[in-house]
Amino acid sequence: MKKILFATSEAFPLIKTGGLADVSGSLPIALNALGHDVRILMPAYADLLAGLSNLPSKRINQTGGMVEIFETMLPGTTVPVWLVSHEGAFDRTGNPYLAENGKPWIDNAERFALLCRVGVEVAMNRIGFGWKPEIVHCNDWQTGLIPALLEDEVDRPATVYTIHNLAYQGLFPKELFQKLGLPQRFWSHNSLEFYDQLCFTKGGLVYADRINTVSPNYAVEIQGKEFGCGMEGLLKQRKDRLSGIINGIDEDAWNPATDPLIPNTFDLSDMTGKQKNKFALQKHFNLSVGNNVAVLAMVGRTVQQKGIDLVIEAMPKLMEMPLQLVILGSGEKKYEQTLKHWQTLYPDRIALKLGYDEALAHLIEAGSDLFLMPSRFEPCGLNQMYSQRYGTVPIVRCVGGLADTVEDTTPANLEIGTASGVVFHETSVEALLAATLWALDLFNKKPQWKKIQRAGMQKDFSWKQSARKYLDLYNLALQDRH
Ligand code: ADP
Repeated sequence: MKKILFATSEAFPLIKTGGLADVSGSLPIALNALGHDVRILMPAYADLLAGLSNLPSKRINQTGGMVEIFETMLPGTTVPVWLVSHEGAFDRTGNPYLAENGKPWIDNAERFALLCRVGVEVAMNRIGFGWKPEIVHCNDWQTGLIPALLEDEVDRPATVYTIHNLAYQGLFPKELFQKLGLPQRFWSHNSLEFYDQLCFTKGGLVYADRINTVSPNYAVEIQGKEFGCGMEGLLKQRKDRLSGIINGIDEDAWNPATDPLIPNTFDLSDMTGKQKNKFALQKHFNLSVGNNVAVLAMVGRTVQQKGIDLVIEAMPKLMEMPLQLVILGSGEKKYEQTLKHWQTLYPDRIALKLGYDEALAHLIEAGSDLFLMPSRFEPCGLNQMYSQRYGTVPIVRCVGGLADTVEDTTPANLEIGTASGVVFHETSVEALLAATLWALDLFNKKPQWKKIQRAGMQKDFSWKQSARKYLDLYNLALQDRH
């Protein structure tokens, strides 16, 4: 049994702004189920604390004042959660990182440095919990200072730093380095300095015993200029300590055999429910109902990262193909408006819902034939995994986690039964259209189509599998600890 401190800035269902919350709300449970002692450390945001009452707590003195650490459990589980509370830091409502004007809270450096300092105290068993972890697992920049601050501690735990999104690095002006009272030796380009700024992420990238990201392919990609966000040199230097582990999916919430959010459940032994869901989806959007035409879907943020601009550019040619297009998403207004324009031009061919709609996302996964993800970059991606589980064949660009989770339909893969989608390489309209045509061709070849659906539906995207890989990573971190 390993003792693991999981430090994070968000965890589902307590608080969520993105994929990090899903990982933080799932991986500790999966590790716990494998018999390990995992405890989560995160901020006690006001909105979160408001939903909990009568929590036991411990108080400690920290630079900047008294810190109170509340003890609770991840809802519905036995995974302990320690919530760090400090007057003026986390006791405000709203987004954890952004003020109402959409800009980062002006004291983010102080707030998350405090979380990191408390993380060190917990890691070194100096709070009075009578518990010392062997591993501290840090996640993204908000916890990036922990591996750096632990560096000088005698008999410290091993550290793992996971990159969920390298684009967010916790960059702050030099003055904050002084203000936070960080050791002077950290002000170096070999340490926390990044072009004259303080960089929290570098605390993880430079000092963690092991670094990983959320897919093996993205771990390679970020060592290059295109995806490295300026960190490629450092990551290349530490490539022996860098690896990737695909995120799991919530297999209870996304299970076509039991999903309460879809009208007809189904599984591999009886796919009639899928057909009925397709008709329900077509009805929902007033599209003509039938199985001759393929439904091609997209769910996600309408931003350039996801290649929505390519889809818009490809629209005239897509509309010449025998397909119905279903899009659910929100994001940049200019793309939303252009999509609206296309929808009014082809009301019987294009279905569009702008906004966030969890239930509709389930119906779309369950009722579509094809799912399009032409992303420019994709650290892991979830929808391509949901799609395969629901017998919806993904068309993806060969990038990041998409490349790791979808097997292209080559003749060889089809033969051995591993083909589970259509993969294209170039970021171009031509490549997207060629892949779509190939997928439509497959849709009309029923024996092959069924084989592709079967391969996807049988894949293991469980957290259990990912948790085992994290355990291997923790062992490596323990070996590498100096
Ligand atoms: P990212 O984290 O980059 O946005 P992912 O594919 O990793 O992309 O995860 C996005 C998650 O959010 C998926 O579960 C997806 O289904 C969901 N999602 C995104 N946009 C919407 C929306 N408009 N309505 C419902 N679910 C959405």
